[in-house]
Amino acid sequence: MVDAGTVYLVATGALLLVALGVGLRALVDIFREARERSRKRRDGDLDRYAPDPLYDRDPPAPNADGEAPSTCPQCGAENASEFTYCRECAAPLGPGR
Ligand SMILES: [Zn+2]
Repeated sequence: MVDAGTVYLVATGALLLVALGVGLRALVDIFREARERSRKRRDGDLDRYAPDPLYDRDPPAPNADGEAPSTCPQCGAENASEFTYCRECAAPLGPGR
């Protein structure tokens, strides 16, 4: 008969090993990407403070349908016409949207 303490230890140990495996893999990926970025930076392929296109905050241009960007009634920010909520203050951009 196996007692509960042994079962607990075995289950906890197994879970710990799984977590370590997943965590180590993520850490290895992070270090690999950091090394790649620093190599690119050394070679001059990457500007040190290049703006991230994901966070480009320029006002949106009219979309393909020619609809003008809508202006937020709350803060006045320009939003792409397909937006339902303001990209600056998250206010709803008007009825019927
Ligand atoms: Zn707004």
